[in-house]
Amino acid sequence: MEKLQAKKCRRVVLVPFPLQGHLNPMLDLANILHSRGFSITIVHTKFNFPNPADHPDFQYVPISDGISNWDISASNLVRLASTINTNCKDSFRKCLTQMMQQQQQDEKQNDQVACIIYDFLMHFAETVANQMSLPSIIQRTSNAAALLAFCKLPRLRAEGYDCLQDSTSDELVPGLHPLRFKDLPTASMGSLDNFLQLIAVVCNTRTSSAIIWNTTDCLEHSSLTQLQEHYNVPFFTLGPMHKMALAKSSNLVIKDDNNCIEWLEKQAPHSVIYVSLGSIATLDQKELTEMACGLANSDQPFLWVIRPGLGSGSDAHLPEAFQELTGDRGCIVKWAPQKDVLAHPAVGGFLSHCGWNSTLESISEGVPMICKPYFVDQKMNARYLSHEWGIGIELDEVMQRTDIAKAIRRILVEEEGSRMRQRVIALKEQIKHCIKEGGSSYNSLNKLVQFISSL
Ligand code: UDP
Repeated sequence: MEKLQAKKCRRVVLVPFPLQGHLNPMLDLANILHSRGFSITIVHTKFNFPNPADHPDFQYVPISDGISNWDISASNLVRLASTINTNCKDSFRKCLTQMMQQQQQDEKQNDQVACIIYDFLMHFAETVANQMSLPSIIQRTSNAAALLAFCKLPRLRAEGYDCLQDSTSDELVPGLHPLRFKDLPTASMGSLDNFLQLIAVVCNTRTSSAIIWNTTDCLEHSSLTQLQEHYNVPFFTLGPMHKMALAKSSNLVIKDDNNCIEWLEKQAPHSVIYVSLGSIATLDQKELTEMACGLANSDQPFLWVIRPGLGSGSDAHLPEAFQELTGDRGCIVKWAPQKDVLAHPAVGGFLSHCGWNSTLESISEGVPMICKPYFVDQKMNARYLSHEWGIGIELDEVMQRTDIAKAIRRILVEEEGSRMRQRVIALKEQIKHCIKEGGSSYNSLNKLVQFISSL
């Protein structure tokens, strides 16, 4: 099928949520739309903003957020979303008004604003777009199964489900196979009432005219079909967006340490376990020690991302004998070029917190996973990885060195790991078909370009 370009050069305004796992797919989307002829404006908070030098073709407009400093942690996320939505509305309205006035003054200007695309947590953008009679589109940066579960929570509660008491139950949730009650995202999110209020907002499309997904039909056909029955707006599934985008996204805080690629070059194929818990999850001192001892005891090469703040508490440190025990077998970095790492032939497994981006990136490169999920959608993703797709080993809630060492050997050395690798490579191949000409993500992008051009 023909590669559709924007009919005439039109501008799309994107509003990302200022966390790494949300920014990456939004910038990927920006790159994808730019490659199809759209001009791009990124409206961003002053807190945690992307580096304009990474994408000099885009226009960047800061808005006031009233945030000077913020401790980013799971228990603080709902409050961060609510603070941003309260504080940014006026500033966004002013910025859009200015853009529209400039547009009117320069009638010949052909890149007029076609629509606002906002991260599902930045719902103030929809209110403002609606007030200014501009169309808006939601970008969902997490997966379809997670939204399905979020939407069912109020009904489950009405039927007697106790979010806190049932957060340890192994029972399957009716209608949400293969999820158990304990996989649902209710614990460790701060105030439960505030979390449920946020869920009610994110499950509602309000006046938005479509949803763009960073997922793909071949991974989530069933959840997407169920959701499409519920929402009467078109879905555009463009995932995995990092594979659809031609350029890289942008690091928020820390630079990639590319030395780890040199270190990977020296390792045998499929011999290394890559360990990263994303940009938010933290380990207490005991967990950090268990992880270090698990890696040491596994006897396998490892690449471990210890970003500043990973160890909670100011005195978080590695066991004394760790360096001596592991020597050149281990490489530790503050931040890795994760997509390049996962694509490297030396990497044989990914011990991950199972954030949706990490999950998609690992599957896209055919790397099986060890799952140590923490909050929001991560436990659900871990359950899909282990029980739906059969490409992940789930660790227990309490981190223990023997379990970690055993799981690493199961993935890297044992027959079970080879079988998982075969399954995840089969998924990788399906994903390749989705994103190439004629595939579902490719076709969805053509439809999105048409849709935005017709607004
Ligand atoms: N990431 C990275 N280098 C690292 C750790 C993470 O580039 O050392 C990127 C990773 O590729 C992913 C994002 O940060 O795109 C993390 O998003 P995810 O949804 O996996 O987790 P979150 O950080 O939101 O918990």
